[in-house]
Amino acid sequence: MPNHALTKLFRPEVLAMSAYHVADARNLIKLDAMENPYTWPEDIQQRWLESLKACPINRYPDPTGSALCEQLRRANAIPDHAALLLGNGSDEIIQILLMALSTDATVLAPEPGFVMYRQIARSLGLNYVGVPLATDFALDLSAMLAAIADTLPAAIFIAYPNNPTGNLFDAQAIKTIIAAAPGLVVVDEAYSPFADASFVGELGNYPNLLVMRTVSKLGLAGLRLGYLAGPAEIVAELDKVRLPYNINSLTQATVGFALEHGDFLAQQTQAIRAERTAMAKALKAWPTLTVYPSSANFILFRTPAGTADQLFAGLKARGILIKNLSGQGGVLSDCLRVTIGKPEENQSFLNALAAALAELP
Ligand code: PMP
Repeated sequence: MPNHALTKLFRPEVLAMSAYHVADARNLIKLDAMENPYTWPEDIQQRWLESLKACPINRYPDPTGSALCEQLRRANAIPDHAALLLGNGSDEIIQILLMALSTDATVLAPEPGFVMYRQIARSLGLNYVGVPLATDFALDLSAMLAAIADTLPAAIFIAYPNNPTGNLFDAQAIKTIIAAAPGLVVVDEAYSPFADASFVGELGNYPNLLVMRTVSKLGLAGLRLGYLAGPAEIVAELDKVRLPYNINSLTQATVGFALEHGDFLAQQTQAIRAERTAMAKALKAWPTLTVYPSSANFILFRTPAGTADQLFAGLKARGILIKNLSGQGGVLSDCLRVTIGKPEENQSFLNALAAALAELP
């Protein structure tokens, strides 16, 4: 029997939340979560397993991941003056940053955007303000500046490219926002392997700019490693909130190994980019779909009004799992998002979509 006196121990905002839902992908082609579909070449995998023998798992991990930080710094051309913070996925970095803010802080992000900004802010009892994007999913700069002036956010998150829309916002608009912001601005570059633009080169030009990246979309989602680069005095405060040993030894060693032998990951990224072009072309061949431009490893498309749920179910019945965003309503109504998979997976998706579209009334 539920003990209602005990649930009253929790904050109302926690009681009002739903846990993050992950769809069951068993027996389905998984094109829902922006993962890299490729595994490692056999010889590299053998060398990696061999290298792990030298990983002392009886000891706690390196608390700051210093060796890994240096490798990440080199691989991402992060300037020496910027400090680095590692997180158990970039999700944890968002949580660390928001936990360090004062309890009456406001967090602001354009919407639709990455749901964890809102979810974590709410779970911590912070104020959250979502500023609608323009109808073409561009930043609405005047709305952003008005909301900044109005709410004085302690932190602004801007995903670049954006999830779930896939586009890169105008860089000049982001710079205007960084200059106008009274607090921190995190440019979240989770999809940087698939984009040709970055704010890493802007580090040091603004005292309030932080750039966040992850190895998840590169092909290492199971390892859970995100990283944040920014001014040393800010990162030092965030580091006080980070749990000791948040990056386990196997993750530190494996990401380090992958960065040293990274050619195959770069090749996989190239293959995904080429498939993205092919997928966009194939989707655009259907005149009833609106296909949005993507600089990420997924494509957002709008289906004929009122058909997204049926198409999503039709795809699932044919063994394909993508993401149905239509339930979020607003500008995402009728929208589906497909992650780029291997060529044969993408073809299966396109065949299933053709069949599901043919079933529409
Ligand atoms: N930022 C954005 C924009 C994302 O889309 C995601 C994952 N969907 C993340 C951050 C989180 O990535 P991770 O925790 O795997 O590093």
